[in-house]
Amino acid sequence: MSRKDCVCPIHHLPLTWSVTRYGLRGDCPLPRCTVVWWADAHTTPADAETRALRQQAHALIDPLWKGQHVKRGRLYRTFKKQFHTGHIGESDATTCRRIIAWALRFRREHGLPVPPTQEEAVAK
Ligand SMILES: [Zn+2]
Repeated sequence: MSRKDCVCPIHHLPLTWSVTRYGLRGDCPLPRCTVVWWADAHTTPADAETRALRQQAHALIDPLWKGQHVKRGRLYRTFKKQFHTGHIGESDATTCRRIIAWALRFRREHGLPVPPTQEEAVAK
């Protein structure tokens, strides 16, 4: 995705750009919209909920391949096949929830620690 044709997926308005110390940031021009895009080839613009779910999915998935429990390539081929996504950063909220559920199941099956989900963490 190039910066030029990058629009808010909810409002279909071109993002407004600013340079931050974390890199280039695109925001939906509507003040109440939470859609942000950090200009990165492997992500798409997303609202606050989706970005939180993407972070949660990465937190569950990344240790699996970093810890050699599963090969990274195999992991992402599984996601492509089961969830039709090649990158967590390009996934919508529904897909992220599926990836999170998959990761929790994988962790249980392999005797790995299962962290509380965000909902459970909030309830405590
Ligand atoms: Zn918007």
